[in-house]
Amino acid sequence: KKKIAIMTSGGDSPGMNGVVRACVRMAIHMGCDAYCIYEGYEGLVRGGDLIRKMSWYDVRGWLSEGGTLIGTARCMAFFERAGRLAAAKNMILHGIDALIICGGDGSLTGADRFREEWPSLLDELAANGEFTTQELQPFRHLNIVGLVGSIDNDLSGTDATIGCYSALARICYAVDLIEATASSHSRAFVVEVMGRHCGWLALMAGVATGADFVFIPEKPREDNWREEMCSIVEHHRKIGKRKTIVIIAEGALDREGNKITPEMVKDLLADKDGLGLDTRITTLGHVQRGGTAVAYDRMLATLQGVEAVKAVLEATPDTKTCVIAITENKIVRKPLMEAVQDTKKVAKAIERQDFDEAMNLRDAEFSE
Ligand code: ADP
Repeated sequence: KKKIAIMTSGGDSPGMNGVVRACVRMAIHMGCDAYCIYEGYEGLVRGGDLIRKMSWYDVRGWLSEGGTLIGTARCMAFFERAGRLAAAKNMILHGIDALIICGGDGSLTGADRFREEWPSLLDELAANGEFTTQELQPFRHLNIVGLVGSIDNDLSGTDATIGCYSALARICYAVDLIEATASSHSRAFVVEVMGRHCGWLALMAGVATGADFVFIPEKPREDNWREEMCSIVEHHRKIGKRKTIVIIAEGALDREGNKITPEMVKDLLADKDGLGLDTRITTLGHVQRGGTAVAYDRMLATLQGVEAVKAVLEATPDTKTCVIAITENKIVRKPLMEAVQDTKKVAKAIERQDFDEAMNLRDAEFSE
């Protein structure tokens, strides 16, 4: 019987439980044993009761639960070969030869590294006398499949990551709540949302709430952004709008690569010699990650979880490690490392302030 393990890693996102449920049940449906690795790579490195066999009923009701019930963690040990060696040993002790990992680009990078190294890890375990060559024979090929769980929608090669629509819905709801008080008092609110290298949440929240102005990392405003923002807000006020909402991604920059902070925006809106608006800052923070997954994320989690198990079962030793994506409404498999490398290219372009390149890369993602 094939033994397939599933884990969640990196930042949590709504829909991860749906992924675990779908993978566990699809694995069982396909006649395999299903395992969960608790606490991300930490569970793989430490082993023991952090690796548990799951039954069909263990994941009952998980579709509507927020966060990840099997835990997630940042694991320093997995960055080191010794940690990955311990992980390989634990997998073999449990008889696991296939791994499905739901996480962000960091987790997927770790997964790719693990699979690359796998043959040499087995050799080392044999050389150390942990297992005989015969015992290791069934584990020669490790199948790894990635699923993208992230609220930021920051992975290249997929139209939506699992969790991004839930976070977007939460932001919209929060802005709606803020708008009531903004309108009542004729106030301005600067709302900071998550997204270090990716402005998808900020941009889409701006569209969905009809915000006055939006700041995203990939496309800094022109140098005259202060005047531009103030004149737009002033115009909206003149035509009778009683509320002002400015949405700012946490990674927003100006053209020189300096951070644009909510305080800077607030000071501008509140400037007595300018607009003089009664302005407040709201940092949504971890509220954006919380709560149950919206219907779209549950659907994505389920369909992609099923596809991940299929991909594991169909993989051959020559198959490249894949990540399950959604492109133009179709669930597809893509080479994992290409998606991760394209994602890193955008982050690097932003870091060296090559914003034209960052935008070109983003455009390419969505016109693929
Ligand atoms: P995310 O998956 O959300 O991007 P992180 O970047 O924190 O989150 O990665 C989660 C975990 O994945 C790390 O704590 C580490 O255990 C593992 N990981 C990330 N990058 C690597 C890497 N280059 N090599 C090995 N493990 C990695």
